Amino acid sequence: QDVVNKIAAGEIIVAPVHALKELIENAVDAGSTSLEIVVKDGGLKLLQITDNGSGISKDDLPILCERFTTSKLKAFEDLQAIGTYGFRGEALASISHIAHLAVTTKTADSSCAWKAHYAGGKLTPAKAGQNADPKACAGRQGTQITVEDLFYNVPTRRRAFRSSSEEYAKIADLVGKYAVHCQGVAFSCKKHGDSGAGIAVPATASIRDRIRLTHNNAVANDLIDFQLTNEQYGFKADALVSNANHSAKRTTFLLFINHRSVDSSAIKKAVEQTYAAFLPKGGKPFVYLSLEIDPARVDVNVHPTKREVNFLNEEEIIELVCDDIRQRLGKVDT
Ligand code: ADP
Ligand code: MG
Repeated sequence: QDVVNKIAAGEIIVAPVHALKELIENAVDAGSTSLEIVVKDGGLKLLQITDNGSGISKDDLPILCERFTTSKLKAFEDLQAIGTYGFRGEALASISHIAHLAVTTKTADSSCAWKAHYAGGKLTPAKAGQNADPKACAGRQGTQITVEDLFYNVPTRRRAFRSSSEEYAKIADLVGKYAVHCQGVAFSCKKHGDSGAGIAVPATASIRDRIRLTHNNAVANDLIDFQLTNEQYGFKADALVSNANHSAKRTTFLLFINHRSVDSSAIKKAVEQTYAAFLPKGGKPFVYLSLEIDPARVDVNVHPTKREVNFLNEEEIIELVCDDIRQRLGKVDT
């Protein structure tokens, strides 16, 4: 059973960035306005995320890492939210099977913080000889999740990582996306022990400032924004995209569907084709696109390893969004 759990976990979490994505989403779901991320060795040695959200109640700690039995289940009647957030209830469980996991958390109504360690889905003692119960400690409201030695017990996976800078680049890329999307939330991300700032976005930053801070000035100074609402297909689009004189070697594509960063090669391809007629030869656009689609129409994570999403009327929605871009670009004569 344990081996099965470990293999399943290793399929959901293939690289450190996949674990971090789940942790960021949990922190955002908890209503945090500040996320601080520290990474060591590309996330393989350490992934730590500290938030100032709701915290986790002490009573929930014993079952926190059991699959499908998390506190969101208590609100099971809220199927809408489950659709929106791709309810799975197995991120922390998976992490506990393939890494050393510690959680320090404090809710508003608790007089102290609680720290718990997990292995294989269950509470585990911090040190040999201690009991596994959560321990009271000092701390502020919110949650700190510490993931150490990812894949320590999956040597084949562990060996597959060639460079920690490559893994860190994926992490910085992901944090940059959420830092752009989550307005009102401060983000920081750096390598452990690094004196440099890494990524630093204050809570008050506007979306253009967020793009400036996480991507680059040239991009942020040359954007057009638009909103689109469509009742027929039940969606809303919010976009900030390159203007017609943008030129970069690669497309930067930030796609959010129902506030989750996702991939869609169909949308990306259509958008690139739309730009091809307008940008200087070989130039590629920057595109931030946030779609809110009726959750009933979205197919979230059919399989956990699948990071692409599908939704109803995909072609029609893509066409409408690309039409909007085309119209605006067409008006600019640079
Ligand atoms: P899911 O998010 O699908 O429910 P997870 O394993 O990611 O499953 O998280 C389990 C539960 O732990 C969440 O539903 C939430 O109640 C709680 N939780 C996890 N991380 C945090 C956090 N940073 N702040 C508050 N609660 C959290
Ligand atoms: Mg989660």
